[in-house]
This record gives sequence, structure tokens and C-alpha cells, in this order.
Amino acid sequence: MSFLVLKFGGSSVGTIARMGNVSSIIHNLLTRGHKVVVVVSAMHGVTNQLLELTKNFIDISSDRECDVVVSTGEQVTSGLLALSLKKIGVLAKSFQGWQVPVITETVFGEASIKSVNKDILIGAILEGIVPIVSGFQGISNRNDITTIGRGGSDATAVAIANALQADECFIYTDVDGVYTADPRIVLGACKLECISYSEMLEMSKKGSKVLQAKSVQIAQDNGVKLRVLSSFKDNDVGTAVGGGATKYPTKNAAIAGIANDMNSFMLKTNNKNFKKKSIPMTEIDEKTFVINKIHQNEVKNTVGEFDNDIGIVSVIGQDSINLNQRILKSLRNNKIVVKKIYSSDKSLSIVTPFQQTEIAVNILHKEFFE
Ligand code: ADP
Ligand code: ASP
Ligand code: MG
Repeated sequence: MSFLVLKFGGSSVGTIARMGNVSSIIHNLLTRGHKVVVVVSAMHGVTNQLLELTKNFIDISSDRECDVVVSTGEQVTSGLLALSLKKIGVLAKSFQGWQVPVITETVFGEASIKSVNKDILIGAILEGIVPIVSGFQGISNRNDITTIGRGGSDATAVAIANALQADECFIYTDVDGVYTADPRIVLGACKLECISYSEMLEMSKKGSKVLQAKSVQIAQDNGVKLRVLSSFKDNDVGTAVGGGATKYPTKNAAIAGIANDMNSFMLKTNNKNFKKKSIPMTEIDEKTFVINKIHQNEVKNTVGEFDNDIGIVSVIGQDSINLNQRILKSLRNNKIVVKKIYSSDKSLSIVTPFQQTEIAVNILHKEFFE
């Protein structure tokens, strides 16, 4: 018997039929004697629709009322999944962030989780009830509903797994693990058996949305064992995240994968106050910043040069910086324009024109993995 937190993402609960499938996964685990807490995302596409509704009135997403609106997607899923489970004879009860409660900072759109109260969830489990918790949302200590950033249900699941000291946190999604590149972009991408927290964190920060970066950070800080696996496939072990070193799929170099970010813009500015804005950004040199397009309207009045025609390809792994000459040669040989290069201790990132980014991902994947 294990104590598991299971998280189901948007496409895993995207239709009523998919919710039936998720109910069977939960039922099977219960039949095998496991205790479970479930965390759900909004049905596929719903959060985008809700955000679009707010745009009728406001062009930023960091307003208190935007969080009131966009958090509702998860409420619908949690209620529907609880009903679906009850229909097959499983006792289940939905919980919203404020009911647990999941306490966050008072920041709208990008709050971080400060704590999770485990008492209500433990109480439900002791009564034989499966708690179905709405991911992505929390409550601040000023009693405001907050959301914790796109893809945030991953972080809710990991924070709950940590609070409950669960044995493992299973992130069910529409791919069967973490791959050496986004399998939708690189057809020959290979599945990793296991990846270290630090390299997974770097993959996520550099755009691999299979796990939200904040969730990996919480897992790493607290030693929560994570596993990414498919809700569309039976009996698969997926990819283990943390709990050991990466098993590199290539013998030649310690490279875990190639990540890409197609959702950012670059801003070059002399404005000293610019960094005071409470939005996440990467400073790639003294004057140049990479910022997610979701925050574009918050900085639109900054004086500087905006470059929207970019995508970023990043080579992840402890050898990436030593291999910079090989990486650049391989891109230049294939006529990829390099707009900027920057690095961290576990990655080398290259800014390319938007149209060339997916090609660059494939070139670098071939260079290291094929
Ligand atoms: P969910 O709705 O379940 O949270 P997401 O869409 O957030 O799912 O994340 C899953 C997607 O992440 C996959 O469909 C895949 O296209 C993408 N992805 C990006 N990089 C990777 C990678 N390295 N390995 C696996 N999937 C990746
Ligand atoms: N529904 C939210 C989003 O689309 C959170 C999540 O899916 O994890 O970003
Ligand atoms: Mg996600």
C-alpha cells in the first residue's frame, strides 16, 4: 500500500469520456490498496477561454478579479470528477483551494504556495473518501482567491504531496513521460527513464511544459518523489523525476534534453526601474531581458527595443556549456540565425528567429541523440 497524490491535466479530463477513464485509473489504484488524493486541472482549453473573457475588460492577467474568473475552470472539473467517481461507487468529495486551504501569497496570476493545511484531506481519507482538489488555485491570507501561474496544478499536486508526506506524486498527462525534447516537435525524441530534479527544473524553466517549473522546485526543496506518466496508456512506468541522477540517453555527453520556448519576447532597455516590476523575467545581459508574452501588456510602456520574433532553444545538462562551440557550429552549419546566447550552470540557450526555433530543436536533437 502506498499513499499517492495523483494529478490529472487538462487533456486527461478534457471530455466526460476522459473523466470516466480517469475514474477507472483511480478505482484501480484503490482496489490495489493504495490511498489517494487527486488534484485536477481545468478541462482542456477552458482556462484560455476564461482568460479571453477577462480581456474584454482588462489587458493584464494580474488583477484580483481575473483570478476569480480563471480559477473556476478547476472547480468545474473537481465537481464533475467527484460525480463520475460516485457513479461507479467510489466515495469522493471535491475541495476548492480555499476549502483545504491552500494558502498563497497575495499576488494575482503568479502567486506562490506558502502552505497547505492537511487536516481536511486526512479527515476525508480516514472516512474512506477520495478528495478531489482543484489545482492552480489558492487563497491568500487576505481572503482573496489567487492562481499560481499557467500549468500550476502541477505545483498544487506537489505541495499537497509534501504536506501529506505522500510516498509519491504521479503527474498524469497526455505523453507517457519526460522526453529528450517535446515529442510533438521532435519525432525521434526518446523517453527518459529518470531525470534529476536539477535538470528537470532547468528543462521546465526553459520551456518544457510537461512539468511546471514551480512544481519541480517544490519537489526538489522537499524531496517529493515525482513520476510523469500517461493517463491514456495502461501499465506504464513513465519517467521518475528526482530520487537520483539522470540516466543520460547518450553515452557521449551529460546532456538530458533540448527544451524550447516559443512564448517569450526579448526586451533591451536602459530603464533602471524596469526590474522592479513583479513579473518573472530572465536577465540575459545587463540590458536584455526575456519575458513571457503573457506579461507583454504589463511592460508595453517601457522605453526600449522589443523583439517579438524570437524562440529560444536550450541544451540542458551539465555538459552543455563545455559543448558551446559544437552547438553553435551545428546551428550555423544549418543556417540558423543566432540572435543571442546565454547560459546557466545546467543549460546553454540560443535565441533564434521564431520560424527557425523548431528546426533548431531538431538539429540539436540530432547532434546529441540520434
Ligand atoms: P497537462 O495538461 O497534462 O498539464 P501539458 O500540456 O501542460 O499537459 O504538458 C504536456 C505537454 O508537454 C506534452 O503534450 C508535450 O507536448 C509537452 N512537452 C514539452 N516538452 C516535453 C518533454 N521534454 N517531454 C514530454 N513532453 C513535453
Ligand atoms: N488550468 C491551468 C492552466 O491551463 C492550470 C493547469 O492546467 O495546470 O494553466
Ligand atoms: Mg501542464
